[in-house]
Amino acid sequence: MSPSTTNTRRRAQLLDGAAIATQIKLETAREVERLWKDHQVKPCLAAVLVGDDPASAVYVRNKIKASEEVGIRSEHHRLPARTDFIELLDLIASLNERGDVDGILVQLPLPAEIEADRIIDAIDPQKDVDGFHPLNVGRLALGKPAFAPCTPAGVIELLDRSGIAIAGTSACVVGRSQIVGRPMAQLLLQRDATVTICHSRTRDLAAVTREADLLIVAIGRPGFIGGEHIKPGATVIDVGMNNVTDEATARKLFGAEAEKRIETISKRGYTLVGDVNPAEADAVAGRRTPVPGGVGLLTVAMLMRNTVKAAKLRRGME
Ligand code: NAP
Repeated sequence: MSPSTTNTRRRAQLLDGAAIATQIKLETAREVERLWKDHQVKPCLAAVLVGDDPASAVYVRNKIKASEEVGIRSEHHRLPARTDFIELLDLIASLNERGDVDGILVQLPLPAEIEADRIIDAIDPQKDVDGFHPLNVGRLALGKPAFAPCTPAGVIELLDRSGIAIAGTSACVVGRSQIVGRPMAQLLLQRDATVTICHSRTRDLAAVTREADLLIVAIGRPGFIGGEHIKPGATVIDVGMNNVTDEATARKLFGAEAEKRIETISKRGYTLVGDVNPAEADAVAGRRTPVPGGVGLLTVAMLMRNTVKAAKLRRGME
């Protein structure tokens, strides 16, 4: 081996989710403007937050802020944690009824006493901009037009706009949740990938994931996917969002870039980390999404796009 070969440390190209999210929001803002100019229609998103979980409050705030940025009208319905099931059902029924509300999003998780599935079932499927209603889930599984959940739909946009082929590739999704893993697999299948779904009971996970050209991870375990899980040159999409609070873990995950993260921990108390070990992935993968700056911002951008789509579909414009 020549000295130059031994010294070469491969570094995966980072995919810029933030730039793509900005692009999608700009396109959505233009469409909102056009809807107003040509039809005097202003799409409206109603966000429902029950209880005072701080993370959920941040997510809802970000969605309201993004709505304002693109010109979508938004409503924030804040209900106390002690809200009962019937009260919440009544609110959903009134939002379903209203002609001026196009999208309804109920921020999850709901307090344990409220059966989330029954609340989601109550949302008008035409206003289900999160894509969680069984009718939209079923239509997606049948390969028919539907509201697709925003995070996996954002991953598809990221791949397309980064010029990464999907059709014919071997894609592996790690995680089988209703909001990410399962719809992700359906969307990849619709785009003609050969799809494998892994979960906590998968035997020899690394042997399966190492076969994938496209590896998409949504498991909620900081830095769990290491170099041994990745096929050399593969594209790795990291959906995970985990808070790491200790220095030792930050050093293990970020190698040479750990100092910046440790500074963030001492300032904020935590640093945001994905499900993929970035230092190890960089040495093996061809491309990967960073955390933060990868998939996270796309979720909100796709919610904006789904709200405009709902406004048009309800008025027979799409
Ligand atoms: P979830 O509902 O907790 O599901 C986790 C999935 O991972 C389950 O299917 C589980 O398998 C699987 N899993 C757990 N440990 C595993 C292991 N050791 N090996 C293989 N599979 C394993 O999680 P989620 O809601 O999909 O979220 C996953 C991650 O994505 C979280 O970090 C979350 O914060 C993040 N997220 C990000 C966004 C975004 O906008 N970027 C949106 C949603 C979620 P079983 O089914 O067998 O239990």
